[in-house]
Amino acid sequence: MALFIAFLALAPFALSEFYVTLMNYIGLATLVTLGLVLLTGVAGLMSFGQQVFVGFGAYATAVLTIQYGASPWLGLGAGLAFTAAAALGLGLITVRLSGHYLPISTIAWGLAFYFAFGNLDFLGRYDGLQGVPAISLFGWKLESGRGSYALIWVATLAALLAAHNLLDSRSGRAIRTLRFRATMAESFGVDTARLKLIVFLYAALLASLSGWLYAHFLHFVSPGAFNVNIGIEYLFMAVVGGASQVWGAVIGASLLTLLKEWLKDILPRFFEQSGNYEAIVFGLLMLSLLHRARDGLMPVLARLGRAHRRIPAKVATANPLPRRPGPPAGEPLLALAGVQKNFGGLAAVRALSFEMRGGAILGLIGPNGAGKSTVFNLVTGVLRAGAGEVRFRGARIDALPARRIARLGIARTFQHVNLVGGMSVLENVALGAHLRGAKGTLQAMLRLDREEERRLLHEAARQVERVGLAAHVQEAAASLALGQQRLVEVARALAADPVLLLLDEPAAGLRFQEKQALAALLQRLRAEGTSILLVEHDMDFVMGLVDRLVVMDFGEKIAEGLPREIQANPLVIEAYLGGIE
Ligand code: ADP
Ligand code: MG
Repeated sequence: MALFIAFLALAPFALSEFYVTLMNYIGLATLVTLGLVLLTGVAGLMSFGQQVFVGFGAYATAVLTIQYGASPWLGLGAGLAFTAAAALGLGLITVRLSGHYLPISTIAWGLAFYFAFGNLDFLGRYDGLQGVPAISLFGWKLESGRGSYALIWVATLAALLAAHNLLDSRSGRAIRTLRFRATMAESFGVDTARLKLIVFLYAALLASLSGWLYAHFLHFVSPGAFNVNIGIEYLFMAVVGGASQVWGAVIGASLLTLLKEWLKDILPRFFEQSGNYEAIVFGLLMLSLLHRARDGLMPVLARLGRAHRRIPAKVATANPLPRRPGPPAGEPLLALAGVQKNFGGLAAVRALSFEMRGGAILGLIGPNGAGKSTVFNLVTGVLRAGAGEVRFRGARIDALPARRIARLGIARTFQHVNLVGGMSVLENVALGAHLRGAKGTLQAMLRLDREEERRLLHEAARQVERVGLAAHVQEAAASLALGQQRLVEVARALAADPVLLLLDEPAAGLRFQEKQALAALLQRLRAEGTSILLVEHDMDFVMGLVDRLVVMDFGEKIAEGLPREIQANPLVIEAYLGGIE
């Protein structure tokens, strides 16, 4: 990093004008690619249409400065404003699209705007606009390649730093769930639709900024630079560098820009006639890269540098976060009445009613497929009931989205472990405390979130320690054994400071001693006033722990009562023996 900045500082003095110009192109491409790293690599939203936003930035300033004699800075403001409006419009329509619909729609707008740029008279049609003036900065005119160099790279470095800061924050953790874990994130209060839109907006603004710099550096704008194939090149850059890593943007943009220049030079000699041969070589290179190093070059480089990596410091102590006042013990907490959920022809939950009071552990048991996890999903808003009511502390919650239910103080674990595998245990757990922080993406980029961040991470570290995983706090969640990953889930739920904790088979895969430690923890939580709804198959574990039990079979409640009553209940014995057969 320091080496890279030193190189950037020395480059204009050491390199020829040709290479300085090339460095400028690399900086411009890095800005766009960085947006794609956030959008596609991290948030999982694939876009082939970033060149359109570059075009907005370039054309806005070209039109204003050439035709109206406006200042380039006004051009920048107008370009960013126009891009923001357009990106919000496009984003609202497309970001919610799932699967391949999003990439296809980005191609569609890429084509549409390419032809719009080429056919509009006031944009100079396919000839484009000539004579974009140079930018003046502190009385300097940034005329030559060297003149633009500093501005381009200061902007690029600032963007890289801001993106790096963003990913290392409360919002960044939430953004990193968007690709595969959005449902989980909603259960901890993250507004994933809004967050996707924000990332989309950032990526578009970075592209627009690149377009503004481009126009004033080249003094010329034409539609060819904003064609769909350019959008594909940006995506290549992101993938080559390592689409989920901020610094991958620099690597990808550098490598492909240099390679393109070099191939343009060498290939026509080789084929003894001119043509776009570099496109062919690019395609083949992409194929072999995806075959060999699917995550791009950045992870490969990171592995080489691993020996020098510093061990992350221990989480600094911080003021503890405020706690939610708990409900008085015995207060009606959760009540289901006539709850029904069908999946097609299958009634997974039928006319289910039960109640639980504050300060208790209620066991929800039943054979596999009885509908227990479905009950969790109905209570937490992951699924919507077909009929019936769910009340929490007297108020109906069955129509609320998951993130609103999370706000009320309900936290859960997932039966199928739902962690962000590449994030550390600490970060995964900190995600549970999402609603206990408030700093947004902009504050994160500017590092105005450090005090809050320390408190969130401190809280996360405390919960990790509580479930006995302190030794693993900085390890990637995916590297833990499955039983330990379940404990990470428990810690994450605890980080939310819940009134009601829903645990779906937390002891599965744990060793005997780990189970005992977990049981002791749950008892301590109950003593502190946290109520727990527990699904678990290990009957020794359940019977020694719970205050009361509800037994389900085929979606229905077949029994309810104290552990010893349930153990003697013939219906329950029958259901379980049936399950064993
Ligand atoms: P349990 O947690 O008690 O083992 P589940 O609640 O997971 O049971 O499942 C209850 C029934 O509903 C099962 O037959 C399961 O196959 C079915 N089921 C659960 N989720 C879905 C879903 N999303 N779509 C279709 N069927 C489902
Ligand atoms: Mg289940």
